[in-house]
Amino acid sequence: MLAETESADLSRSPSPGLSHFFHSLFSLFFPDICRVCEEPLERFTRVPVCRACLEGLRGLPARAGICEGCGLPLAAAGGPCRQCQKGDYEFEQARSFGAYDGVLREVLHLFKYRGMTPLAAPLAARMAEVLKREWAPDRFEALVAVPLARGRERERGYNQAALLARELGRQCGLPVLENVCRRVRATPPQTGLTRAQRLENLRGAFAPGPRAALLAARRILLIDDVFTTGATLSACIRVLRKAGAESVCALTVARTLAG
Ligand SMILES: [Zn+2]
Ligand SMILES: [Zn+2]
Repeated sequence: MLAETESADLSRSPSPGLSHFFHSLFSLFFPDICRVCEEPLERFTRVPVCRACLEGLRGLPARAGICEGCGLPLAAAGGPCRQCQKGDYEFEQARSFGAYDGVLREVLHLFKYRGMTPLAAPLAARMAEVLKREWAPDRFEALVAVPLARGRERERGYNQAALLARELGRQCGLPVLENVCRRVRATPPQTGLTRAQRLENLRGAFAPGPRAALLAARRILLIDDVFTTGATLSACIRVLRKAGAESVCALTVARTLAG
């Protein structure tokens, strides 16, 4: 009886406000519930999404079911898809881990807009699986992240593509070339624009960075979070190639699929 009272007393905080404050501060760094399914996180982690949600992320089909150029899932095996036939893209090949919807979309939102940067590690792990499955181990010499405009990066505090590239580089043993390409101006939001409008929107958006000479004769894998129309990737790749890159492929976490 006495023990019970004692433990009850101990659990009563002397200052609920203060304890709440510390709890909130603590859960900011070490979240205690999954931000997708709201189940308690089972282990002490900085990644705010539970293992079940992360393990449930489904990837796009592998080689046989996709366009060999851009990685688009195809109804019939083979390809190339219509866009690749038209020569719409600047990359040699592109691949993405999964479709930009459902849980993957939620996780990417947390990562990109809510400051939950520890998600870079599990997302890069998915990219690493695709990289190993789709390309020969010596296919690339270095990674480059699609740059953000300086103003936007300052506002957000980080470039999500750069965090993914660093994590992927660490996981796959590939160097990341920094400051080889810069975004000269922020492009207005691209949503709702046609492909032609996006291209116009992106004209002159990228320029070589102060270390662009590092690109010379290198086989580059360009990293971004989402492949939407491929217009941003293509605009960036044009600059990388002009600066001397031998070849450029692209890898993103997700890809928007029409319909
Ligand atoms: Zn969850
Ligand atoms: Zn294609």
